[in-house]
Amino acid sequence: MEEDKYAEIDKGSTSLTDILDSVDTSRDRNKTFEIDPRQHPITKEELFRFLDFDVELSLHEDNGKLILGVGNEHSPADSDVLNIGENSRLSLHSHPRNSGMPYPSLSDAIATQNHGESTQLMQIGSEGISIYRRAQFDSSQNKPTKDSAKEVLGRWGNTHHIDVLNYEEDKVKDEDVSYFSLSNEEKTQAARDFFRDSDMIVDFIPLNDEEGLKNVLAAINLEKVISDNKYTELPSIMDAIDIDIHDLPLDHAQQGKLNTIIRHFDLVLNRDGRLNRDKELRKGFLEFAHELMNEMRDAGVDKKTEELLQQIGEKAKDIKVD
Ligand SMILES: [Zn+2]
Repeated sequence: MEEDKYAEIDKGSTSLTDILDSVDTSRDRNKTFEIDPRQHPITKEELFRFLDFDVELSLHEDNGKLILGVGNEHSPADSDVLNIGENSRLSLHSHPRNSGMPYPSLSDAIATQNHGESTQLMQIGSEGISIYRRAQFDSSQNKPTKDSAKEVLGRWGNTHHIDVLNYEEDKVKDEDVSYFSLSNEEKTQAARDFFRDSDMIVDFIPLNDEEGLKNVLAAINLEKVISDNKYTELPSIMDAIDIDIHDLPLDHAQQGKLNTIIRHFDLVLNRDGRLNRDKELRKGFLEFAHELMNEMRDAGVDKKTEELLQQIGEKAKDIKVD
């Protein structure tokens, strides 16, 4: 009998209501349930029911279907159980109403790097739905970032004296406090601060925002796309220059020189690592790039390359050393 009950559910011919009515959260942690959102679109009421469970539930898109997973009190279903591809269009999970964690957690921040660029990341908690994405900005270094959330979070923790990576109290430095020893309120506040500082929140929809919810449900039911999980685009001196350096008739040495010029301007633009702290170094990099441009010209370049060097020179005037 047990088998028959699930046979129907597994085929994806049931609604989320049917699944939630029959799911046994203590037993079904290694199971997934499939919903076809075209046949049974998820409703607001169904989604809100997630909050009443004492475990985290999740919905993932896989081949046009939605896969419900059953997690535990502190984390959503395991990726091994879900077996969802990186290109999934949706990853939503709940925090139970009584969990004391209404917003995405720092674990959720780290997990953003396990998802591809096209995944819409959402979390539903007792106060609303957070739509979020991978870290865009490294507030510790005051610059856009392409680093993993774990790296950005590690530096953020250093700056804020919160050790976010060590569970063991004796590994935590004296001036730091372990994230894992914080109360739920403090954890929530730390996560909110990190999500804000790293520009990870795309939108927050309170549970009574009817218009906002319609939009979110359309995304959950795969009718529209409202967010992504893309890397931030780092600025480059080549932005808005429409000459392709690969089209230029340059020999190997010239090609190398041009790449070095562009890289040095871009490094100063993005203020990577030591360049962020060291004004003299930034100055030096800019001078070096200008010298290389002069060297290239002195050795003689074709008309198209000269045009490119001129455009780069114009844009370089806007790069601030201070
Ligand atoms: Zn979470």
